Amino acid sequence: GLVGSEMCIRDRCFSPTAFCFLLCDFFVKNRLTSNKNALFVYNVLMERRTKEILGYNVDLFSFDEAVNYIVDKSQNASTQTVTINPEMIAFGDNDKEFGEILKNADLVIPDGFGIKLALKIYGISQEQIPGIEFAKRIIEYCAKTSQGVALLGAKQEILEKACDNLKKEFETLNICYSRNGYFQESDERAIIDELKANNPKLVLCALGVPKQEIFIKKYKSEFANTIFIGVGGSFDVWSGEVKRAPKIFRKLGCEWLWSCLLYTSPSPR
Ligand code: UDP
Repeated sequence: GLVGSEMCIRDRCFSPTAFCFLLCDFFVKNRLTSNKNALFVYNVLMERRTKEILGYNVDLFSFDEAVNYIVDKSQNASTQTVTINPEMIAFGDNDKEFGEILKNADLVIPDGFGIKLALKIYGISQEQIPGIEFAKRIIEYCAKTSQGVALLGAKQEILEKACDNLKKEFETLNICYSRNGYFQESDERAIIDELKANNPKLVLCALGVPKQEIFIKKYKSEFANTIFIGVGGSFDVWSGEVKRAPKIFRKLGCEWLWSCLLYTSPSPR
């Protein structure tokens, strides 16, 4: 699209159309150099747009835009994606460190129905972005671009099953590191060193909230251009051991209701 100046030279005339192109050219180039968060998605200039809910900024990207944004941002720096829900906001209010992590994350996607509802109250119609599906899309991106994926978290058996199932789903997937999530703080240094040695593009942390967010925040800066996502119970689902809510619950944004039913059922998940 940035052809205004070329058109002027080729046509050797200064038509109003060419003039408009030239103005756009100038405007877009200026914005690109002055805004670090700017990027092109589907050839449209994108910026981070957020809405504050109870003191926490939530990104208003569509699913595709969020994927493109984080992939683009992680070309030059490591990023932390938080999949925010009302419980996390409540926790952030009680725990300053966690609250700061939520506020400073590189991408805050509206995972839960509660956030979608809160945005609706502000008159914003926002696509819900389930963290588990978002993480899958980034795995797919890594598989397609031959970049390593690391899985850190969950019980050993769950982790192994999740890795097997993901490899079946994405033939070209390279799981360059995996480790269960039951370790001591004194093991963290060795884990990080091993992770670094394997150079993952994506690190999925399934350590539960707030452990995973705190872990990512603590070590993210030691990596050059890695995408970190806290994915909660996603490995449990990918392992096949835990079922996600039926589609109808997901469509209505009521996954939380399904979880409540499971937790209160006599035969727990
Ligand atoms: N987990 C872990 N290490 C821990 C605590 C939890 O690896 O010290 C794992 C746990 O096995 C499960 C996931 O973290 O796979 C947490 O899932 P949950 O559904 O509780 O996630 P949350 O609701 O906290 O996002």
